[in-house]
Amino acid sequence: MTTDGAGDGMAPPMVVSGGPHPDIERVLVSSAQIQRRLRELAAEIDRDYAGRQPLLVGVLKGAFIVMADLARYVTVPLEFDFMAVSSYGSATKTSGVVRILKDLDLDIAGRDVLVVEDIVDSGLTLNYLLRNLRARGPASLEVMTLLSKPDQTRVEIPMRYHGFAVPNVFVVGYGLDYAERYRSLPYVGTLKPAVYDPS
Ligand code: 5GP
Repeated sequence: MTTDGAGDGMAPPMVVSGGPHPDIERVLVSSAQIQRRLRELAAEIDRDYAGRQPLLVGVLKGAFIVMADLARYVTVPLEFDFMAVSSYGSATKTSGVVRILKDLDLDIAGRDVLVVEDIVDSGLTLNYLLRNLRARGPASLEVMTLLSKPDQTRVEIPMRYHGFAVPNVFVVGYGLDYAERYRSLPYVGTLKPAVYDPS
């Protein structure tokens, strides 16, 4: 994206020509790397779910971008549903408290469910979610996550489809926010320290 939107009354775009967003310190996973990996994972999903019609369950809000891009590389027929759970608020530390803010619309009993996540950090969110979903009697229950962090305190989560391991730093972009910003960046990166502490 290279338009600057100047003078047309529109908000400035997230990506300006010539480099990443000015608040980004470092790009950890580029847009090209993400798209390449999603095509590989989609090919695996096509193989694994051949002849079936999996239900993709996106965990809002973060997973909406990865779910949309992944789904367009998958060729087996898909259905979609979403859940919203509370985890971070606008702070950068996990609370460990998981609350369902929006439940599924569909009944998943007997369905092949593939949960799509943006990032697994401590694993607490997904661990809770998987237990909750398993109790509803799906035929199968698997996880696809774009990112994971090497948190030592992590609950072990079976991640059947995995994009990238990132270091133990707070990242934004590609669905991930800081105080609701930066979700639409097409890559994953870290923020400049001044963004957290503008004083
Ligand atoms: P967990 O329960 O695995 O510790 O945290 C999972 C959730 O925390 C993710 O779905 C995401 O919403 C949020 N999260 C974890 N790490 C990061 C991060 O580096 N950046 C952002 N923006 N959110 C994160």
